[in-house]
Amino acid sequence: MTFFKKILIANRGEIARRIIRICKHLGIQTVAVYSEADAMAPFVEEADEAVCIGPAQAKKSYLDIYKIIEAAKQTGADGVHPGYGFLSENAKFARCLEQEGITFIGPDAKVIELMGSKIESRLQMKLAGVPVVPGWDGSLETVEQALELAGKIGFPLMLKASAGGGGIGMTLIHNPEQLKAAYATTKQRAESAFGDGTLFLEKYISNPRHIEVQVAGDHQGNVIHLFERECSVQRRNQKVVEESPSPFLDEETRQRLLKTALLGVKQIGYTTVGTMEFIFDDQKNFYFLEMNTRLQVEHPVTEEITGIDLVELQLRLAAKQPLPFRQEDVKKTGHSIECRLYAEDPKTFFPSPGTVTKLTLPEGVRLDFAIKEGDKVTPFYDPMIGKIIVHGASRKDAIEKMNDVLEQIHVEGITANTPLLRMIVQNSDFQRGEYTTRFLDKLLMVNA
Ligand code: ADP
Ligand code: ADP
Ligand code: MG
Repeated sequence: MTFFKKILIANRGEIARRIIRICKHLGIQTVAVYSEADAMAPFVEEADEAVCIGPAQAKKSYLDIYKIIEAAKQTGADGVHPGYGFLSENAKFARCLEQEGITFIGPDAKVIELMGSKIESRLQMKLAGVPVVPGWDGSLETVEQALELAGKIGFPLMLKASAGGGGIGMTLIHNPEQLKAAYATTKQRAESAFGDGTLFLEKYISNPRHIEVQVAGDHQGNVIHLFERECSVQRRNQKVVEESPSPFLDEETRQRLLKTALLGVKQIGYTTVGTMEFIFDDQKNFYFLEMNTRLQVEHPVTEEITGIDLVELQLRLAAKQPLPFRQEDVKKTGHSIECRLYAEDPKTFFPSPGTVTKLTLPEGVRLDFAIKEGDKVTPFYDPMIGKIIVHGASRKDAIEKMNDVLEQIHVEGITANTPLLRMIVQNSDFQRGEYTTRFLDKLLMVNA
């Protein structure tokens, strides 16, 4: 059975380090690619080889398909791991690698395309019998058409970019005037962020919870789930704290959700790890939101409760090995929480680049970090500098551990969101597990 000899990591920061770590353990050589701004970054030093692929701007480095493929050929890599963000959901990248005989560690280009379009993926899920958020599944052509459809679906609504990601390209709409005002700007934003201005409409689920299912499939046609993750602590529709299991689900709803997610995965013939995202209303009705056909930022909480390394699993599946376990072998133990540490102001969420002059981190806890003390946080990329992951026998135990860890973390030289993370973990609604995606807005209003 062939496995990889050398893989190139088409990413940076904490996820590049995390992939290097497991490759070292598995005896796989690694190649880092880096921009000029990242020349001194830990992931560059930790990889066996490193190739500079251009200037700081992502478009000229981490998003430059040609340069990355050249680096892979030059170093003789037999696989490319895209991490998350950047080219991880880029069908053209996957296709170009395939043409070069280099394995893309992810799904087929066709599947990326299908699930990269929110409109297409909603249609696929409907075919599979997976409930989707009520809305309109065509692409909007004009603002007049949008207004007519909005009247039928009812307000409030989400005006969404079909190609959207990272919480970008969606606008909450309460009435026809707002729709008129937001249509052109949302379209423009989608065009500039994703090169695709296709918009559609979804009913806005009020006070929702974001709960997603980690799934995996192999080339032999088997599919499994690895339970759910609760990701409702969000700012600007982007996750900040995640946990597994979800405190919101009773066992009956959980089983129904997991089963439904697998229906969707079977429908598309999925052959790697991925995430089915769902939104829950307060009646425990759930609807498919989108599928992420890649490793997720918050994948560690799943690893903590199942003891399964998701990157190793990704590598094995990409090498066409069958899933190494059956559904009934996937067991969960205890509770895990992840906090994303951002170089950003905890109140305004503005990024805070600079040199980290002091970084005190506790020991004995999983820290997936991008930087070390003395390193620079540049303004060019996502300001997440690290993830803190704890595991406890119970949710209460995990919260206590996280609280302890957060008390011991000290960052100097930049502004970090540590105070916000502490406030979340110490909040009584969070501690009771009673929170929705509106939680952070409320928390910040109270403490303004
Ligand atoms: P995940 O879905 O893995 O939990 P997020 O929802 O936070 O991660 O972000 C989705 C993806 O968008 C991630 O892969 C992340 O790297 C990327 N991303 C995050 N912030 C931005 C941004 N400001 N611009 C573009 N992409 C981003
Ligand atoms: P992205 O691709 O940017 O991750 P998603 O469709 O996954 O976009 O939505 C991201 C977040 O935005 C969700 O977790 C949720 O908080 C909010 N959201 C998206 N769609 C809706 C909706 N129809 N109703 C309420 N909230 C929504
Ligand atoms: Mg999403």
